Amino acid sequence: MDGSLLGTIEAGGTKFVCATGRNPHEMRNRHRIPTTTPQETLARVVEYFREAGPCSAYGIACFGPAAVDPYSPQWGSILVTPKPGWSNVDVAGAIITAFGKPVGFDTDVNSAALAEYRWGTAKGADVVVYVTVGTGLGAGLLIAGRPLHGARHPEIGHIIPRKHPKDLTFPGVCPFHGDCFEGVASGPAIAKRWGKPLSELPPDHEAHDIIGWYLGQLASTLTATCSPRKIIFGGGVLNTPGLLDRIRRSASTLARGYFTDNEALKASICAPGLGADSGLAGALALAECAQDEQAR
Ligand code: ZN
Repeated sequence: MDGSLLGTIEAGGTKFVCATGRNPHEMRNRHRIPTTTPQETLARVVEYFREAGPCSAYGIACFGPAAVDPYSPQWGSILVTPKPGWSNVDVAGAIITAFGKPVGFDTDVNSAALAEYRWGTAKGADVVVYVTVGTGLGAGLLIAGRPLHGARHPEIGHIIPRKHPKDLTFPGVCPFHGDCFEGVASGPAIAKRWGKPLSELPPDHEAHDIIGWYLGQLASTLTATCSPRKIIFGGGVLNTPGLLDRIRRSASTLARGYFTDNEALKASICAPGLGADSGLAGALALAECAQDEQAR
């Protein structure tokens, strides 16, 4: 890439984080905008970039579900979402209209997977999954350096898990499926059962085993379906001390040594190399791609 400045937007359900930069280690002018109405939020994003100065391309790592198929007339929009007012909002269109520059657009989790592949812990890995566990539970999937889209994009958080034996009566919190992985293991699912974030529950509380077991089951399921070299777990819930090790142990117990040896399976499960910056760095990677595509 050349030395021109790129604009990055991590578009989340609670906040939009904007920055400018040329590489993920030199992101400048980070600015946080609360996610309110689409009109207000996007107007503030445009205002930020007008003040930050000209960028040659923009990248948007967007909360899902999002229209990522470049051949779809809806490309660049958020699809039907429970978040009030945000269904069918054309996020990429707002930036293209304001600045007339190339815009890259993908889900926040696909973007994070891309950033980890380029600069983080999954450098050069041919199959990468990035799982985020926070307000929701979602995962991005990268094959040979390209985010997987297909008809829509993977919705790994909405796979229906086997229930934990001590969790059989919890109906789950997903408005669509109840007890899918998001419905039983996301931050709101933890708060609904136990009244607190996982990190604030005592270390011997059964919640740690139950959530570690579900996420280990998810890692085992992902290994069975797409054979990833790396399964990266990020998001607020993963700030809980010891959780990543519980996920590794549970995945290994549930897989019963079938896919690979247990140590290799455990080693494939890791934390983001870019820490909490995977999303913003992913937006930078999308801006780079958009700029390169225009140059071709
Ligand atoms: Zn669901």
